[in-house]
Amino acid sequence: MLAFFKARPSVPTPTAPKSGRDRIAHGRASVAFAARLGFENVSRRYGDTLALDNVSLDVSPGKVLCLLGPSGCGKTTLLRIAAGVERPSSGRVVIDDAEVAGPNRFVPPEKRGVGLMFQDFALFPHLTILDNVAFGLRFMTKTEARAEAMTALERVGLGHYGSEYPHILSGGEQQRVALARVIAPRPGVLLMDEPFSGLDTRLREAMREDTLAILHETRATSIVVTHDAEEAMRMGDQVALMRKGRVVQMGTAPELYREPKDIFAARTFSDLNEMKARVEGGSAATPLGTFPAGGLTVGTDVIVCVRQGGVCLNKQGKGALGRVLDTRFLGDVGLVEVAVQGLDTPILARVRENDVPDEGTEVGVSVDEGAVLIFQAENGSGEPSP
Ligand code: ADP
Ligand code: MG
Repeated sequence: MLAFFKARPSVPTPTAPKSGRDRIAHGRASVAFAARLGFENVSRRYGDTLALDNVSLDVSPGKVLCLLGPSGCGKTTLLRIAAGVERPSSGRVVIDDAEVAGPNRFVPPEKRGVGLMFQDFALFPHLTILDNVAFGLRFMTKTEARAEAMTALERVGLGHYGSEYPHILSGGEQQRVALARVIAPRPGVLLMDEPFSGLDTRLREAMREDTLAILHETRATSIVVTHDAEEAMRMGDQVALMRKGRVVQMGTAPELYREPKDIFAARTFSDLNEMKARVEGGSAATPLGTFPAGGLTVGTDVIVCVRQGGVCLNKQGKGALGRVLDTRFLGDVGLVEVAVQGLDTPILARVRENDVPDEGTEVGVSVDEGAVLIFQAENGSGEPSP
């Protein structure tokens, strides 16, 4: 059951389920079955733009996949194709081994058991909060729908607001109502497009945790879209990193953080210092130290990346010689800009607030080897070729 959050109330009422297969796809029964959601070689073209380029992804039943990537990389398009409000140009979407979009079959949105929460969701101002939540439950009797909607509203902690109208709600509460609306039909697959982007930092954190708890409780197979790497790592059982319509890398948060596939992935998950170097005798020498260069052959141009949190500053002058140019207070940590002898550009170090040295002082700069990543330089920039 797709919840049409952007649709007007005049959207045609989905017809009552007839076949056995339809019944499973129609919400209520689907709660018992966490669905498997698969994309097989899905591409989507808009004129000259290839919004999705041969995407293959599998989301395991009941798991949360975070789709992470910069604006315009195809995240929304992928969700819309899964929900059925958009068709793939080629490839297949599969839910529980049944093709829902592809060369052989197209299952309309309301028969997929998929809930989609749009990025710019809107509540209907002229409907009560309860009726807003009941909106996607038109295949039920009114009494049934209201009971289900109340269950969902209570689940997000807003049962007491049922008979009020949306204008009284804060931003966070509106978000909760939208969440109640999308879970009310008990979709087997739940898709959320940048659900927290409109909230301020503190509220966002609380909503993330609450939403995650609800996703786990409903056992829906979920895709949560974000362009925030930390959010993706916190929420996703798996994280799929996208770029230019492709999935660059997929894995658990620690896998992507520790072993990013290319420098683009590395930059996504960590704030880095980058230094050019050349591999000599199995390692790459930089003013901050010499680091093992894995299987890279002698003479290869590389970019040595050091996570900002992996730079150690000491007053005893151990390591490379540095001078503190600037310090910035970030709360628990301080960001320290240090000019290092032998390096053209200053480096940034994230250190505990108590360990921030004074501006203008000389420090020793060393590097925690676990915080170093080395990538082959391509096009002289370390950027993977497009
Ligand atoms: P994201 O959600 O990651 O920001 P989108 O999926 O919205 O990215 O868009 C991916 C690409 O497809 C962008 O270049 C966008 O301009 C293009 N695109 C998306 N929808 C349409 C459309 N309906 N018509 C034309 N181009 C589109
Ligand atoms: Mg988008």
